[in-house]
Amino acid sequence: MKIRVSYGTAIVLGLVHARQDVAPTTAYLLFDRGCIGQCSFCSRAHGNERSQKLARVIWPEFELEQVLEKLTTPPLPFARICLQTGYNPASENELKRLARRFIKTGIATSVTLSPSQTALAAEMLEMGLDHVGIGLDAASKTTYALHKKKSWQQDWPPLLDLLQKSGDRIEVHLIFGLGDSEEAFCQRIQAIIDSGGKISLFALTPVNGGNPPEFAAYRRMQAFRFLCEKRLIRLEDCSFSDGKLTALPVTGETLNKALENGDAFRTSGCGNCNRPYYNERPGQLFYNYPRPLSAKEFSEAMATMNLAEE
Ligand code: SF4
Repeated sequence: MKIRVSYGTAIVLGLVHARQDVAPTTAYLLFDRGCIGQCSFCSRAHGNERSQKLARVIWPEFELEQVLEKLTTPPLPFARICLQTGYNPASENELKRLARRFIKTGIATSVTLSPSQTALAAEMLEMGLDHVGIGLDAASKTTYALHKKKSWQQDWPPLLDLLQKSGDRIEVHLIFGLGDSEEAFCQRIQAIIDSGGKISLFALTPVNGGNPPEFAAYRRMQAFRFLCEKRLIRLEDCSFSDGKLTALPVTGETLNKALENGDAFRTSGCGNCNRPYYNERPGQLFYNYPRPLSAKEFSEAMATMNLAEE
């Protein structure tokens, strides 16, 4: 059996010989038997399993046994494996068998699933998976219908249920840039956190057209997500104008300290997940920093947010 491996992961495993500026800290693998999803922003939608790309990342194929051997040879190259999947209910049994192989290695394993697979998510957590990432992606009913072509009424209630039961092991993936206002986006973040879940934040990567989000708005969403997850602020204490976040309840030096020298602007998700170059090309400004920020990067990110002082 073959499996796709992200280009950066393949370099760390020695399967590809190339240089990279920032190495992944999680092994990103892709199991996709043809996705039947219709997400507007994805290069693999509509069963396009031939596409070598997911987001900006290239995923060459290798023999599973060879990948497993590399992953488990000491010193272990990764402390987490993330098995990304296309939405294909017909291949769920095969996916479970594959996930068992990774769980058996003893390395913390995450799997990404569709919001329509909450029952499978619960079953796989029971099997010994460490975390599950759920690709909700859109933050509201309207954008969910528009970009995921799926029913909010059908998918959101079971997701809430899953969060209430196992939220500390669920990362809900949200993409900023699909047309949700900052206020709608923050409302969804707060609702997920209130139900016990965590957020893995992405910027829209316009592989099928459209525009990436403005940095100012994205930095504000990163700050809100971070402070909200740390229970330092709540939606009700923030100010919005025409859907834009204009002020946080913490400012100045307190805000600087709370954002922990830029950790707020780093990739969010499971432990050790840094996803380099999912949202940007090498050399471009990072939406999600895959490494610690320099003092200059941090002050630039702070200034970009353009929030009211007091
Ligand atoms: S947060 Fe990272 S490691 Fe966790 S499921 Fe999402 S992509 Fe995978």
